[in-house]
Amino acid sequence: GELAKLPDIEPSLLEITRTQQPKRPPPPSSLVFGHTFTDHMLTVPWQILEGWGKPKIQPYGPLAVEPSATVFHYAHCLFEGLKAYRDTNGKVTLFRPDMNMKRMNTSAERIAMPTFNGEAMVELMKELVRMDKHWIPDQPGYSLYIRPTMIGTQPALGIAPPKEALLFVICSPVGPYYPQGFKPVALYGTTEYTRASPGGIGAYKLGANYAAGVAAQKAAAQKGYVQNLWLQGPEHHITEVGTMNAFVVFKRSDGSVELVTPPLDGIILPGVTRDSVLALAREHSAGKIRVPELTDKLVVSERPVTMKEVKEAAQKGDLVEFFGTGTAAVISPVDRIGYLGEDVHIPTGPDGMGPISRPLWKHLTGIQTGAIPHPWAVEV
Ligand code: PMP
Repeated sequence: GELAKLPDIEPSLLEITRTQQPKRPPPPSSLVFGHTFTDHMLTVPWQILEGWGKPKIQPYGPLAVEPSATVFHYAHCLFEGLKAYRDTNGKVTLFRPDMNMKRMNTSAERIAMPTFNGEAMVELMKELVRMDKHWIPDQPGYSLYIRPTMIGTQPALGIAPPKEALLFVICSPVGPYYPQGFKPVALYGTTEYTRASPGGIGAYKLGANYAAGVAAQKAAAQKGYVQNLWLQGPEHHITEVGTMNAFVVFKRSDGSVELVTPPLDGIILPGVTRDSVLALAREHSAGKIRVPELTDKLVVSERPVTMKEVKEAAQKGDLVEFFGTGTAAVISPVDRIGYLGEDVHIPTGPDGMGPISRPLWKHLTGIQTGAIPHPWAVEV
């Protein structure tokens, strides 16, 4: 017979329990990234024989999960990160939430966890953000960081696809990543550890990826660097910058400028910011849009790039910029890379940014904060 289709996530079943003890949001200047959470959270349970259950918005608080639950033993945990912004007219938008839900489903499949209807989840997240939107501080550069997470909750040992799971969403008010203007960071070109490998899990937003990176970051910090520059293979291909995608800008002999990021070849996380920067840069160089102050002689490449190429370009004076992209900082300029015992120096402008990243950052943050109307900003 025909396989019965189990229920997917259904926003019309949403049950809301408002908190009886609303908290007072702390003064914005006291916020530390990811340390303060809003009044409510969203949960949706899943069971293998019943599919997705009733979505609930309830007071933020501890979960009841058995110590035998899959997540505590075999790292069945995946998550997302996106932001809600409030514009000067009070309108609240999510930035490209469909991309995060798509990536979340890809991550879930990679560790044999259940997938779900991303559009339905976006609707539920909108409701959660509507309820807690007064937590977005009313100051430029502030936003609400949204953390959708899925964990395996089956109370049983044994390595297998979990038969029970929980999807939940929590929200945290966050300040500007660089409150005193851009501060370029120093990276440690890491050759002792790898973040990802072919066939592995680097292209997915799984908790296990991040636990494995912490000791390497600690080692880099002890050497005086802020983040790891993750290198791959014997040629030391550039892959990612800490938990950001990597971009390099080269001056070319024909007078053009090349914006390069490594291709999505299975070891790189497909960043939403990466995709947005690429799209804006490509539309600009094709003449479809105009990013103010961005050169017209821009060539955009997704291609492999090695440390050797970066080092040689720096020596010849052909290295224009090096930066990371991600939801938290949007664009993070780099001024130095420690590589095999030497420092490679990277030019940065007076404000910390470079001639390519500055206009791209301005345009992208303009879209995110509602100053530039764009379909990527989805009203809640
Ligand atoms: N790479 C890694 C490893 C990350 O954790 C992140 C943050 N999600 C990114 C890149 C940037 O992705 P996004 O632009 O979607 O935040």
